[in-house]
Order: sequence, then structure tokens, then C-alpha cells
Amino acid sequence: MDSIFCFADDKHIPMYRIVWISDVPHFCGHEDCSREGQYEIHLEQDESVWATREDRDEVLKSLEAWRGGLGKQEDWD
Ligand SMILES: [Zn+2]
Repeated sequence: MDSIFCFADDKHIPMYRIVWISDVPHFCGHEDCSREGQYEIHLEQDESVWATREDRDEVLKSLEAWRGGLGKQEDWD
């Protein structure tokens, strides 16, 4: 996979902008929360996108493929 983009929340997201990805679905207890059950993908500059579990898993897979595709493991040592 050559793309540096992954897809979630109807957006193409440059993978290098991702800081972290939530492992558990969002829960804050607010009755009017529209993010309940969604997974947060946190980006640089305090931005977030919200993904379904399926989208989140796809993003994780894309990230791993992206890292692996670079073949930079030796460079990190
Ligand atoms: Zn909430």
C-alpha cells in the first residue's frame, strides 16, 4: 500500500498526523453525546476524528502496513 492516507469518519487522513488511536470506545456519560461507542483517532494540533470500530481497525492496519512499507526498522537502531 503506497498511500500515506487512511480513511475514517468520511475523511482521508494523512497517517503521519495521527498521534494516537483509542483502544476502547468513547464513553463520557453525557446524554447528548454523539460520540458514544466511537473510537477516537487523535491528530496533531489537538484535532480528533471519530471512527467506527471497523474504520478504526482499518486505520490500524493501514498504519502498520505504512510503517512496514517504509522498511525503516534498521534505521531506528
Ligand atoms: Zn462524550
